[in-house]
Amino acid sequence: MKEAKHILVTGGTGYIGSHVCVALIEAGFIPVIVDDLSNSHETVVGRIEKITGIRPFFYCLDIRDSVALNDVFNRHDISAVIHLAAKKSVEESISKPLEYYQCNVEGLLSLLSVMQSHHITRLVYSSSATVYSPNQNGIYNEASPVAPINTYGWTKLIGEQIIADITDKALLQAGILRYFNPVGAHQSGLMGECPKGTPNNLMPIVAEVIQGKRQYITVYGDDYETPDGTAIRDFIHIMDVANAHISVLHHIFNHQKSLTLNIGTGKGYSVFDIIRAYEDVNQVKIPIQIGARRGGDAGHVCADVQRAKQELAWEAKYDLNDMCRHLHMWTINEMAA
Ligand code: NAD
Repeated sequence: MKEAKHILVTGGTGYIGSHVCVALIEAGFIPVIVDDLSNSHETVVGRIEKITGIRPFFYCLDIRDSVALNDVFNRHDISAVIHLAAKKSVEESISKPLEYYQCNVEGLLSLLSVMQSHHITRLVYSSSATVYSPNQNGIYNEASPVAPINTYGWTKLIGEQIIADITDKALLQAGILRYFNPVGAHQSGLMGECPKGTPNNLMPIVAEVIQGKRQYITVYGDDYETPDGTAIRDFIHIMDVANAHISVLHHIFNHQKSLTLNIGTGKGYSVFDIIRAYEDVNQVKIPIQIGARRGGDAGHVCADVQRAKQELAWEAKYDLNDMCRHLHMWTINEMAA
């Protein structure tokens, strides 16, 4: 029998990475996680095992430590890498730009060097909708102009550029995924987002209100040019995001071709839509307070997902109610733990 392929997942105990590991195991791959636990917990490895029955390999290291990283490649016959390890706070990136370039850009360079010395040529790279230049209609396809408005977005775009240079020379086949707004939790309610520090995205803040850690949600701006005045985003269920990685991995293995794809649902929901859906589905009340707009927040950001549909035959399956229901299950379970 052929041995299952080992896939290195950097940032594999993080929010997206942990769900990617579940999807990998369900698709017959073996994840090898490297993560420095700067924004996650080692207990996540046990959660992946509880859901799938298989414990992934785990190494606690900073990807910039190329000696330690090299050792992991020596121990495992790695077939491809899914690179998620990065710092991801837009606000923090503005106040600590150097840390962001060091972690996100230097980290990528270290990873690519070690991959190259082991002749590993397949990579999935986590990029973001933040690479796009804000536009009029709020819909972005992969050819939309890129021009980030914060350091975090620049680190992601620079990463894309580095990868494009290498793929151009046929040294790498890469799937660059520009995620929109991943939310929710695994459908079992056993795993979800569990960051260290204070979250600044809508859904983790909803979870904190449910857990009693906050009294209300601040809605940043109700005067956008949208039907209810609040900002519209393309929220996508975390397991849809995770499954997109499996589709892109198969694409790279089968077609040896690089590609850049938006990963969203193509549907926009406002902040009020989300709060209302969460309240209705879970029969809870979420107090809100209206605050001023945050600098740099656009009114409407939504993905055109045609390319992902065509190239991968992948599309999101979960709806807004699933996102809210599964997040609530995870939030309640985490409270009880
Ligand atoms: P996360 O913080 O939950 O996960 C990132 C993981 O990487 C964490 O477990 C952290 O400990 C680890 N890490 C950070 N720096 C490291 C380093 N130098 N060496 C080793 N491990 C390191 O974030 P996430 O939401 O899972 O995001 C994963 C990726 O997706 C990131 O690259 C992020 O930029 C990108 N992304 C996320 C979103 C989102 O909304 N969550 C949107 C677009 C893009």
